[in-house]
Amino acid sequence: LITADKVNKHFGQFHVIRDVSSHFYQGEVTVIIGASGSGKSTFLRMLNRLETHDSGTIVIDGIELNHNLKNIDAVRREVGMVFQSFNLFPHLTVLDNITLAPRRLRNMTRAQANVVAMDLLGKVGLAEHAHKYPHQMSGGQQQRVAIARSLAMQPKVMLFDEPTSALDPEMIKEVLDVMKDLARSGMTMIVVTHEMGFAREVADRVIFFEKGQILHEAPPEEFFGECGNERISAFLGKIG
Ligand code: ATP
Ligand code: MG
Repeated sequence: LITADKVNKHFGQFHVIRDVSSHFYQGEVTVIIGASGSGKSTFLRMLNRLETHDSGTIVIDGIELNHNLKNIDAVRREVGMVFQSFNLFPHLTVLDNITLAPRRLRNMTRAQANVVAMDLLGKVGLAEHAHKYPHQMSGGQQQRVAIARSLAMQPKVMLFDEPTSALDPEMIKEVLDVMKDLARSGMTMIVVTHEMGFAREVADRVIFFEKGQILHEAPPEEFFGECGNERISAFLGKIG
């Protein structure tokens, strides 16, 4: 579904992504880990063109990401993204947060969009909260709304950038549970996270980023087993 081929990116002189190549298959859940500053967020952001790449190619569902604005619009419709900091619209209710994009970009009527939104709110366990504003909800609830909002666009891929790292421990589980359900439903997901339990349980593949490169990638059983790489073992030791 996604192919990255020899992708490079610089921020000024700093070579942040170095010759990264990988395939992400339909229905596959990939977890990306690596030290702070290794380029994980930058890589994810390139996949929906929040960042541009300098060289190499990125193709998503047959659409090449380049300077063609039509392609960028098309890809943004297919690629949902959830951030560490929820990023809900504070002045809109939960329901309006979810229905805004489908009404504007998918030409749904308010009634159609509401039906879709209520179904998704049910799936993330928040049907009772449709008319609240974000500040009236916990962080975990807000993040589940953010996930529902992305899903309302019916994306083919969901990108998650440390979706639980701003949350208190008791809220992490409720968000991970929603993500696990989503994985089981067959969604293609790329998840940057330090939640190794999630990686073991649902990932098809774990990628270790170091200094803008893929140092190692393997299925979780293999990755967390005797992988024999000192740097990875040291990193896993640190994040516990
Ligand atoms: P973290 O685990 O802390 O989120 P990360 O692996 O997601 O780290 P990135 O956010 O991709 O890392 O950043 C990689 C490097 O690129 C860092 O050194 C960062 O300072 C630098 N960087 C990121 N965004 C920019 C930018 N817009 N301009 C300049 N440098 C940037
Ligand atoms: Mg990051």
